[in-house]
Amino acid sequence: MERNEFYYNLEKVDAHIHYNTDRPVLLELAEEENFRLVSINTDIYFFPTIQEQENIVFKQRKKFGNRLDFIGTFSADGFNNADWLDITINKIQSIVDKGAVSIKIWKNIGMELRGADGELVMIDDKRIDPIFKYMASKGINFTGHQGEPKNCWLPIDQMTIKQDTDYFTLHPEYHMYLHPDYPTYEEQIIARDNVLVNNPDLKFCGCHFASLEWSVEEIAKRLDKFPNMMVDTAERTSHLQHRAVTEPEVIRDFVMKYQDRIIYGTDIIDDNSMSDEEIKRHQKAIWDRHWKYFTTSDMQTSPKVSKPFKGLGLPMEVVEKIYAHNAIRFYNLKKLDSNK
Ligand SMILES: [Zn+2]
Repeated sequence: MERNEFYYNLEKVDAHIHYNTDRPVLLELAEEENFRLVSINTDIYFFPTIQEQENIVFKQRKKFGNRLDFIGTFSADGFNNADWLDITINKIQSIVDKGAVSIKIWKNIGMELRGADGELVMIDDKRIDPIFKYMASKGINFTGHQGEPKNCWLPIDQMTIKQDTDYFTLHPEYHMYLHPDYPTYEEQIIARDNVLVNNPDLKFCGCHFASLEWSVEEIAKRLDKFPNMMVDTAERTSHLQHRAVTEPEVIRDFVMKYQDRIIYGTDIIDDNSMSDEEIKRHQKAIWDRHWKYFTTSDMQTSPKVSKPFKGLGLPMEVVEKIYAHNAIRFYNLKKLDSNK
């Protein structure tokens, strides 16, 4: 099959986006490109409120059906109140009942949320664990972004990837190198791993290669240890490419070995900050660039990576898993309905 034919015939899933706008342009592009989208609601202070994010998804789904699936979340506000846990578990169940395919927990737990004692609350805290017990007992997936890329703990000029330089320049509040009083990278990773040790039945997708983007060896260790764990590629494909500059075969061997455990996602945020044309061009360019990386063995470049690297040139059946089957299986996505 021609590359183009394969691309357009495959019903692909971009399983990590943030649809924070009422405009339809990204979903229209997704229809043209034969992509489905999974929007991840997130408890981020610079996002619309969780309620607003949900309203956006429900409104878009009226028109586009399950071309747009979504992952729900809950607020950490009120954590120190006696009723927070009950409220949160009710919230989780109600958003799952409304169609959420998973529950997202963001890095605010571990980096922002503080207990009544003023101490940061880590993700493996006893006060959080009943949430995981509940989710595991109900078969509700956990989509987690804990910690940050390892670059976050380095000075700006030592970061490996341009996008990290840009992000942490823009968000010094999350640049942990500037906050040595906060938990270390290793402490964040250990806390997240503890959740999986304590909840072996919990189905977990680690966003951004589970914040282990710098080492496929470290990702592999977790995938071996936690059989219910998946990882998504969101906004971290460039880290594979960075390593592929010098060791393309290491990356390819990793992706081939764990072909059933990797879920494709881009982490695009549509919040109206680009024009209709800009966001379409931007997203299409990302999809095209990634497709070229996963499907061809060509030498190629990315604006995020400093040197050229070789593409993965994966067999079609592996591309189908990473771009579609793994997300459909893990998130239990229903067949695409036609009620556009
Ligand atoms: Zn994201």
